[in-house]
Amino acid sequence: MSGRTTTVLTGAADGHEIRVPLIEIEGEIDGPTLAIIAGVHGSEYPGILAAIDFSRSIDPAVLKGRIRVVPILTETAFYGRAEAVCPIDGKNPNRVFPGDPNGTYTDVVNHLVFERAVRGSDCVINVHGGDIFEALVPYGGLGECDDQSVTDRSRELALAYDLPFLVTFANKSSVSYGYDLNTAANRAGIPAFLAEAGGNGLPSEEFTAVHFKGMRNVACAMGMLDEEPVRDHQTRETKSGFWRIGKEGIFEPLVQLGDEVTEGQEIGVLTDWFGDPIEIMTAPHDAWIIAIVTTPAAKANAIVYQVAYAETE
Ligand SMILES: [Zn+2]
Repeated sequence: MSGRTTTVLTGAADGHEIRVPLIEIEGEIDGPTLAIIAGVHGSEYPGILAAIDFSRSIDPAVLKGRIRVVPILTETAFYGRAEAVCPIDGKNPNRVFPGDPNGTYTDVVNHLVFERAVRGSDCVINVHGGDIFEALVPYGGLGECDDQSVTDRSRELALAYDLPFLVTFANKSSVSYGYDLNTAANRAGIPAFLAEAGGNGLPSEEFTAVHFKGMRNVACAMGMLDEEPVRDHQTRETKSGFWRIGKEGIFEPLVQLGDEVTEGQEIGVLTDWFGDPIEIMTAPHDAWIIAIVTTPAAKANAIVYQVAYAETE
């Protein structure tokens, strides 16, 4: 039956109750299934707000197929204003998909969502909004997948999201017990991609609109909405990597978000607690700066930039 239903998925782990909101919209006409998982990191608000707005904008009478939206994956990270990790067990939710029903809090949440909202979908959007400590240029990301047809479809739908960059990660940090959401979905045969817009813990209207447009464009590309997609960008397809400072200290970036830097260019300076410069950071190769860590606090070997660079580098 067509219509919009809201549910709270429940469970328990580590002595804590689990509550995960799920919105399901069943279209009047049969068609594919789109899953939108937002709030994967609890303080990345534009993705969360866009997922809710998008779900409310859909008229089941004209929808072909069904849309499943989890607006906030980890409630405790959302209310705890947490950065990157879940405060209950210290795990990064985007490293432990598809989850584990017998694991800790984050594993159980991810398992619940993967089985209920992700499995059986024709596309999964792993929605992020830049963490509390970073500013970024909106970008899409593709995971690693052995099945070329899944990779191709993931790329096609990620391009439909219409962001300035679409990146693949050259040296992806991986852990032995899990994957990011889009990679886990790909491994289950489901096309999926990462969508990043937002940052610094701000509920930015501009970036919420970027996500909203992307979600709508993907639904259009899947033939679920009889509307025209909106294209504002010529998406650059690149590799991506992370640049780190060496010592610990107070970091000051010397470049702006979106800048194109060249090999050897001075891009940051690290001072000690007394203001004396202790390290000048230079660009190891040509790249675009797509994310900057905006807090001056830099531990030794801390990531300070995320970059995009051409395949040939
Ligand atoms: Zn995130």
